[in-house]
Amino acid sequence: MVRSARRMTGSRRGARAFSPGGGSMAQAGRAARMDAARRRDGDTCVWCGVAFDDRTRPTREHVIPRVKGGPSWLENEVAACRRCNGERGHRALVEWLDECERRGWHPDVPRLERVLESLQRAIRERGGQRRARPQLDGQLRRLRKRPRG
Ligand SMILES: [Zn+2]
Repeated sequence: MVRSARRMTGSRRGARAFSPGGGSMAQAGRAARMDAARRRDGDTCVWCGVAFDDRTRPTREHVIPRVKGGPSWLENEVAACRRCNGERGHRALVEWLDECERRGWHPDVPRLERVLESLQRAIRERGGQRRARPQLDGQLRRLRKRPRG
């Protein structure tokens, strides 16, 4: 069974060097999950679209924030630049998404939808995550209802 690994995530959200990791993605280390998220999604910030390079390092962004029960799983993580990650804080996904668009950015909505859907599947398979579930369902519903473009 997958146990939640609360103690693994501190308040430090810095970009770190990446090293290859092993094991299932649910249990893989942070750096390995970040690597996997970048391979899965492409190498840009989910919110502002900046391309990562030596000066702009990716940080782990929890789609459903940890404080709202979101797990530290690959299925709940995307790459975001440090600025966006920090500015979002603990705001709900769609609330922050609207803010990004007000600022004239082009957040990667299809990526967010894919990740939320994969998180729903992962929770269905693994169980648990009672706190995250209503958040997740609500955010996905709101995301799908938003006008496109
Ligand atoms: Zn950004």
